[in-house]
Amino acid sequence: MIGTDVCIVGGGIAGLTLARALTLRGGTVCVVDRGKIGGGTSSVAAGMLAPMVEARLQEREVVEFGCEALRFWREFAGMIEREAEMEIDYRQEGTLVVAVERDHIGIINHLHDEQRELGLPVESLSGYECRKLESYLSPTVSEGFFSTSDHQVDNRLLLRGLRRICEVQGVRIVEDAGEVTLEQGVGGWIVTAENESISARRVVVATGASLAIFRSLQPKLARLIRPVKGQILRLDQSEMPLLQHVVRTPDVYFAPKSDGTLIVGASSEDRGFDSAVRLGPLYETLQAAWETIPALYELPVVESAVGFRPASLDHAPLLGETSLEGVYLATGYYRHGILFAPLAAELIAEEILEEKRDERIRAFNPARFDQMYAERQGD
Ligand SMILES: Cc1cc2nc3c(=O)[nH]c(=O)nc-3n(C[C@H](O)[C@H](O)[C@H](O)COP(=O)(O)OP(=O)(O)OC[C@H]3O[C@@H](n4cnc5c(N)ncnc54)[C@H](O)[C@@H]3O)c2cc1C
Repeated sequence: MIGTDVCIVGGGIAGLTLARALTLRGGTVCVVDRGKIGGGTSSVAAGMLAPMVEARLQEREVVEFGCEALRFWREFAGMIEREAEMEIDYRQEGTLVVAVERDHIGIINHLHDEQRELGLPVESLSGYECRKLESYLSPTVSEGFFSTSDHQVDNRLLLRGLRRICEVQGVRIVEDAGEVTLEQGVGGWIVTAENESISARRVVVATGASLAIFRSLQPKLARLIRPVKGQILRLDQSEMPLLQHVVRTPDVYFAPKSDGTLIVGASSEDRGFDSAVRLGPLYETLQAAWETIPALYELPVVESAVGFRPASLDHAPLLGETSLEGVYLATGYYRHGILFAPLAAELIAEEILEEKRDERIRAFNPARFDQMYAERQGD
């Protein structure tokens, strides 16, 4: 049996950033994944670090956390590249949001105004100015805005770098663990995998869009998360570079990476863990993509993939200790896991090892749902 201070169940961006943050503070850590480390939704994502362009006033707490997370990213990217001795393609060119058809104009103007109100830096552009920035945009693009502060990273390189750092720092990694169970032990918890048992003082559940691990232990925790399916495409623009910036419309986005990959996404579907690539949603994404960048027609398709955004009941993250003493959550990152995880990891690591609960994650504690459940029981 492995003995450790903290066992993290789940080796996506949430689990790996946390493993790094904990070991940097001197804790011993084991990461257990039912499959391969980095094999979940974190490697499907587009890698946009964009709290601004998706900002909505009603999500103010989430937007504010996203802005903080983006500020932290500037420092974090450099630290990862130094520690892992590799580049992760962190890019700061900014994001262009455009209207391709008449119905888009109202939506992007509304988005623009909301962002102004939040004090976020955005610059209005005419269709001509949009095409000066990205010459392959369709002639039907009539207006847009530019968000200088929305950035991006190659999330697959990031996952590789994080794994490398964790290995160097002595994190124990257990992959292909199959069904993982959690039970109370003496002075802590026992995590049992098909190929290993781990005894830990504390456990962090970072299993993305499923909290099934709690089904028999604490069923109400298992219901805090649902998967929101996303289908996404990877094209190859290395022979014919079409875009330099992240470009978005209300219907589709494009994230160009430095290796020539052009990511086009994504659907948003409430259909559980359906892992099939289905033609309908893919067709809608492709149609919107083609209307925005007609020259896309010629690009080779490299990959189509499906991921599951971890959505909590209120679409805000779930960060901190649960009603089970010594068991924490690091999930609920929904559309923003790549953006949120590095900062969230620092703050949860402080909470776990230094017993400090930072103001910035207080609102995201899982206990916020306890009252809701208590009221339901009293009905
Ligand atoms: C199409 C798409 C595009 C996206 N684009 C972006 C973007 O541009 N920017 C952004 O910030 N976010 C984006 N997201 C959201 C982002 O991908 C997620 O928020 C993030 O990846 C969640 O990370 P995670 O570590 O919580 O989950 P995951 O990456 O899914 O990792 C969870 C891990 O836990 C393991 N696991 C699950 N259950 C168990 C169990 N019971 N026992 C053991 N192990 C278990 C899995 O095998 C997996 O390795 C996108 C999502 C999708 C679907």
